Amino acid sequence: MAPRLAASSAPGKLIVLTGPSGVGKGTLLKALRQKHPDLFVSISATTRAPRPGEVHAQHYYFLSREQFAEWVEQGEFLEWAEYAGNCYGTPRQPVLERVERGEKVVLEIELEGARQVAKSYPQALRIFVLPPSWEELERRLRSRGQDSDIAIARRLARSREELRAAAEFDVQLVNQELESALQQLEDIVFATPLLLSSHS
Ligand code: 5GP
Repeated sequence: MAPRLAASSAPGKLIVLTGPSGVGKGTLLKALRQKHPDLFVSISATTRAPRPGEVHAQHYYFLSREQFAEWVEQGEFLEWAEYAGNCYGTPRQPVLERVERGEKVVLEIELEGARQVAKSYPQALRIFVLPPSWEELERRLRSRGQDSDIAIARRLARSREELRAAAEFDVQLVNQELESALQQLEDIVFATPLLLSSHS
């Protein structure tokens, strides 16, 4: 097996972080960026309406369905998918440019998108974040108070599907307690290429 992350074959590193809605991916990434401000987390485009406090071009590029379709047609996306009634996509150029420059880039995306990246960019390191239990996931999703009952039901249905796919990922990380999950994520993202490729 070829070394997946050896410096010679992959100057930068593309990291995909996936996991059911409410599992805490956003919180983990926010904490990781506080420790490593240079880490680039890709800004996705979405047709979802902004939540209170969300800012265009900072949290997401908030697009109309028509604008999103244009971006798809123009090949702007590295991957894109529908999730709980809205479209989400990763703008290709800023991500690939940075990886080619040798930077670490993180995509926080759902399962279908992660599968597309696995095909188009197999060198990516794919991490799946798991909740400690289904009950805890449901509790976290409801306690965010950000989504309507219908949106929560859609997200929970999708979460069941996503959890079944966890084994497809390179690494499974249980987010039981923020500090220890953060430490594990930091170790994975900032592991030296030699360490990660030494088993291959
Ligand atoms: P939310 O609406 O809660 O911000 O995101 C819903 C889901 O869409 C989350 O699982 C999130 O990871 C995923 N998501 C966010 N951006 C993208 C993207 O660019 N592509 C894909 N495939 N999923 C995304």
